[in-house]
Amino acid sequence: MFESLSDRLGSILNGLTGRGALSEADVSAALREVRRALIEADVALDVVRSFTDRVRNKAVGQDVLKSIKPGQQVVKIVHDELVEMLGSDSQGIDLNAPAPVVIMMVGLQGSGKTTTTGKIAKRLTERQGKKVLMASLDTRRPAAQEQLKQLGEQTGVATLPIVAGQDPVAIAKRSVQAAKLGGHDVVILDTAGRTHIDEPLMVEMADIRKVSDPHEILLVADSLTGQDAVNLARNFDERVGITGIVLTRMDGDGRGGAALSMRAVTGKPIKLIGTGEKMDGLEEFHPKRIADRILG
Ligand code: GDP
Repeated sequence: MFESLSDRLGSILNGLTGRGALSEADVSAALREVRRALIEADVALDVVRSFTDRVRNKAVGQDVLKSIKPGQQVVKIVHDELVEMLGSDSQGIDLNAPAPVVIMMVGLQGSGKTTTTGKIAKRLTERQGKKVLMASLDTRRPAAQEQLKQLGEQTGVATLPIVAGQDPVAIAKRSVQAAKLGGHDVVILDTAGRTHIDEPLMVEMADIRKVSDPHEILLVADSLTGQDAVNLARNFDERVGITGIVLTRMDGDGRGGAALSMRAVTGKPIKLIGTGEKMDGLEEFHPKRIADRILG
């Protein structure tokens, strides 16, 4: 679909072989292409700017290596820098706390929260032998609690019995109590989303957090989120305090620039990626793979 960054940089820089160091002008020409690639990958503009500054500082004055072409040399600097900014390989979900460990899922409506709740519950049950309880705190969308119940039936994971008329905070309290009584190792709270960030949503998230004391607060975000990714991640992190990010729809055509944007503004790790609608569509995050994808 796109000419790869490596090809583009090759045609700009490969005439340079043997000219000594990469000059400011060479690097600027290369960075124009890097910027274009990042914008095509949907990286937020602020992040593109700070990223290209970092690359410029590294690249200017670097000796043109005899062994590789200058285009490839710049691609390598860009790739290494992307990997560094994206963080280390996934550490997975941290369950290192007294049981029941509470995991709170947050994010906008339609981001994949409920689906991801089911996927994580299934994974912890099957791979780590954990006894998991899932609870839907979404009282706004009538079908939401039922949707999670069905996922529970499908995956064989327990869900909190639905009690009509309870508010999200009350359900959160009941979830933790039920997990204690039932001897569950982990309880996953699937909170309600909105179509956009608003004050009542943030207040609700903060209240749920207060009563349930989650060990992990995972922001679930669609990897196709473009320039909004920065705002989304910053708001949830400042108001609720996230511990990690799950990027969904990585099975789609998107280049995953939102990963870089969200990581850059929050500094929080990307823990997992969603790769399909099915309950086994969940994978570890590997920065090198995402860097390759962003560069195209
Ligand atoms: P919620 O409103 O945040 O709880 O979102 P849902 O979990 O209901 O997901 C919304 C839609 O996205 C559903 O149709 C899911 O099947 C779909 N979905 C969720 N995660 C993924 C994913 O990783 N890949 C794909 N292709 N679809 C997903």
